[in-house]
Amino acid sequence: MSAELPVYLDHNATTPPLAAVVAEMVDVLQHVWANPSSMHASGQAARRVLADARLRVASFLGCQAAELVFTSGATEANHMAVLGALAAQRGRRRILLSAVEHPGLLALARRLQGEGVAVDLIPVDSQGRLDQAAAQALMGEDLALVSVMGANNETGVLMPTATVAAMARACGAWMHVDATQLAGKAALHFGESGADLMSVSAHKFGGPKGVGALMQRKGLVLPPLLSGRQERQRRGGTENLSGIAGFAAACDHAAATLAQQISGMGSLRDRLERGLVQAWPQIRIYGREAERLANTCCFRLGDLPAERVLDRLERAGVLASSGAACSAGGTQPSHVLLAMGESPLHAKGGVRLSLGTHTTPADIAHTLRAVAEAVAPLLQAAALSGPLFNPAESTP
Ligand code: PMP
Repeated sequence: MSAELPVYLDHNATTPPLAAVVAEMVDVLQHVWANPSSMHASGQAARRVLADARLRVASFLGCQAAELVFTSGATEANHMAVLGALAAQRGRRRILLSAVEHPGLLALARRLQGEGVAVDLIPVDSQGRLDQAAAQALMGEDLALVSVMGANNETGVLMPTATVAAMARACGAWMHVDATQLAGKAALHFGESGADLMSVSAHKFGGPKGVGALMQRKGLVLPPLLSGRQERQRRGGTENLSGIAGFAAACDHAAATLAQQISGMGSLRDRLERGLVQAWPQIRIYGREAERLANTCCFRLGDLPAERVLDRLERAGVLASSGAACSAGGTQPSHVLLAMGESPLHAKGGVRLSLGTHTTPADIAHTLRAVAEAVAPLLQAAALSGPLFNPAESTP
């Protein structure tokens, strides 16, 4: 069977909404559009839909319904966690993040630095694994929050969040896990994670964009980012009911199929990587020796800039991204690859292929052909004409 074009291999950026998700959202939009805060019967019906969705999402994420605060996505949830932790613990003016956190979280940390908050970054090794000894050395009683992602969005490398959570607890700091790339792609249980706070986003596993959640361990009190009476005064604003219903449908689907999806995506990803290595023995696959998500393959071919590879791949019918979609379009080197010790030149070369639950063996065969036919000439040209980069362009 041949692949249906284009082959979409950018699932870490976002996933297509599942049919069951769209169906449930349309149903809610059409029939349950009242405000869940209204006292009349239609409002009560909306409130029941909200409560039902909350139970389904909580059950999938391994938290109590009361620990779940719906948000507009993981960016908002990350902001709630960091700003809430600092506001709740006024005596503690330092936060500790991994060096490879999502750009939105790092940008917030930089902003806070300008406002007098001390920020430290935990380094990673050349495979993208967190340096646990460095993490331990950076712990201290002045920490309000430690924030380490569950899995990296560029490389898929998994982080030892339970170990770091124990370190954070020992010095009285709160632990936040940005689990945006973990939810729906690996086993996840908030209650057993050791984390105090955890962010997720529905659109990374078949749900709609613009909806996610922050889980807050029972007993933690964070000042809200958005004031209002919804979500038990923890997040004001009329609830995005259709989005939340779609989120619940995505959770139901993931709960029923996760183990099978992980093994399916894992074997296709491994097939893809074997094919790439066979064709290009000099390829660098990032985090290949580390524990990784089953769906992610991030690689660099020689000195080729990601943009050029991606352009060729797209023309051959394969949609992918360089490292983080959020910084695509720019020629900035990936902060993740820089943290892994890559030069600024090579940190512009990371191409990320991220598989989804609908990816087929034919998609992988097509992708391998596309790399061979469309990208090989670039490599040959590079070998003949020297570096493709203008070294003046690469800033440290
Ligand atoms: N954290 C991580 C690790 C992510 O991959 C993303 C999505 N790129 C986000 C946070 C932001 O999520 P959202 O789109 O829901 O704001």
